[in-house]
Amino acid sequence: MKIICIGRNYSEHAKELNNAVPKQPMFFLKPDSAVLPKRNPLFIPEWTKELHYEVELVYKITRLGKYISEKHAHKYYDSIGIGIDFTARDIQDEVKAKGHPWEIAKAFDGSAALGSKYIRLNDLENKEDIRFELKKNDEVVQQGSSADMIFNIDQIIAYVSQYMTLKIGDLIFTGTPSGVGKVNPGDKLEAMLEGKKLLKVDIK
Ligand code: ZN
Repeated sequence: MKIICIGRNYSEHAKELNNAVPKQPMFFLKPDSAVLPKRNPLFIPEWTKELHYEVELVYKITRLGKYISEKHAHKYYDSIGIGIDFTARDIQDEVKAKGHPWEIAKAFDGSAALGSKYIRLNDLENKEDIRFELKKNDEVVQQGSSADMIFNIDQIIAYVSQYMTLKIGDLIFTGTPSGVGKVNPGDKLEAMLEGKKLLKVDIK
């Protein structure tokens, strides 16, 4: 299983990090070892001084495919979940400045927190406007809707599958809205999808 993450997919978030809004989807990978085991706390790695949360909609791939057209992409997923793409922002800034890959800042153990379940898209009233939010210590810090993504999931699948085969169980993190920020030991994060609390992470 691989985790494909889309960067800069909400224009307000691209702006808050002083990045240009991309003309094509931009992606990077996390290994399966990045998944934070359910109900485990996340221990801030000792090598970062600035660990950020990024709440994101997550699609799970249900069918094997490559060179998938945008028109057929909807056949490759049927449910949606929520996750947090934990990012060592200080380290990412360093490697970005050098033109190096991001994995050191994005792919470490525990960097992919996932909700307890996925919601079937057919059970949603409006698949084009899927709402989600993140609370830190009971205060809303990020809010988003799939409607605000620069590239929607079908465009992402069409783009990524030109380069790599999508396999059953692969996950696609679709980018984060604005409001990313730092976590400290003792913080409690809770992510909501369509009003349902599906993910809780204690930071240690
Ligand atoms: Zn992200």
